[in-house]
Amino acid sequence: MDIDRDKKNLVGLGRVELAAALAELGAEPFRARQLWHWIYHRGATDFAVMTSLAKAFRERLAERFVLRRPAVAAAQESHDGTRKWLLRFADGNEAETVHIPEEDRGTLCVSSQVGCTLTCRFCHTGTQRLVRNLSAAEIVGQVMLARDALGEWPSPKEDRLLTNIVLMGMGEPLYNFDNVAAAMKIVMDPEGLAISRRKITLSTAGVVPMIARCGSELGVNLAISLHAVSDELRDVLVPLNRKYPIAELLAACRAYPGSSNARRITFEYVMLRGVNDSPIEARELVRLLKGIPAKVNLIPFNPWPGAPYECSTDAAIAAFSDIVFAAGYSAPVRTPRGRDILAACGQLKSASVKTRRAERVVEPELA
Ligand code: SAH
Repeated sequence: MDIDRDKKNLVGLGRVELAAALAELGAEPFRARQLWHWIYHRGATDFAVMTSLAKAFRERLAERFVLRRPAVAAAQESHDGTRKWLLRFADGNEAETVHIPEEDRGTLCVSSQVGCTLTCRFCHTGTQRLVRNLSAAEIVGQVMLARDALGEWPSPKEDRLLTNIVLMGMGEPLYNFDNVAAAMKIVMDPEGLAISRRKITLSTAGVVPMIARCGSELGVNLAISLHAVSDELRDVLVPLNRKYPIAELLAACRAYPGSSNARRITFEYVMLRGVNDSPIEARELVRLLKGIPAKVNLIPFNPWPGAPYECSTDAAIAAFSDIVFAAGYSAPVRTPRGRDILAACGQLKSASVKTRRAERVVEPELA
């Protein structure tokens, strides 16, 4: 029996909620600031280490509260240094988090849902049925757990192994915006995890009505999973397109608060052999992006068991990239990372969820 099970988890609470939880114990507001520092700057997992607090107060905290991370059901490391954690939450559901080390930075790919409702044809996660949204605690917990594993407490000012966050793991973050936003506000707080909004990128398949809020409330970088230049094809690859077609999506991008030539919107384009990778499509992409401060990210398709597509040839990818680049856009080809441990884009999947190819898009209520 886990006696801590019924205790309230303080990880995932914002500043106001943390102060409210402590006020229940009769603690003064400055105690909340001290605790914030221990939780999010020092990474404490136990009240006993919080030496700036009186021992009696620490004991009262421990009676009522816990500082819980998601449990790690499995941890894997790729030969290229990419690490993947399979997390198991209190209710038995699972999701994955991936850390991708590079020369000058380290990116954490964070999940926002268990499974996904979008059923994009080329995505492994899309073959699972959505079980549920992750809570703010479970989203922030992924970042804290990575910091634990990387040994990065207290939050270092420089030379970090974890510098960037991409909301590109399992799930559609704009279908779980409130929890994603609460988690990112904690992550961005300069007195804690202190990862700036400029180092955070939210990737969406195109939930148009939520894009403006993402810009105005969070101000993070935006990435759009575009993948096709005609509605006809995008309807098939990204079924959400039937609801929010390309023209509406691009209009929302044009209006994205805070985008500029210095802060461009990333357009992700998965390279599918013979499906979306012709020079004609590259030129059409350039035409569509006109007037948007954009960069293009070409993603070689990552295969998974039973996938209905193949990756484009190197020559097709190079030709596509050249056309986009010649039009003035940066168009790097993303090197697949962690393919050997199924940690690359679109390969994430958790065993707790049954496989199913859904026939239609089941869309949660939008706020
Ligand atoms: N739902 C959000 C977040 C997921 S991000 C979104 O759609 O943007 C995951 C990124 O990986 C998306 O750009 C997705 O389109 C891409 N992707 C999915 N499956 C892939 C695969 N098999 N190979 C390469 N990229 C893939």
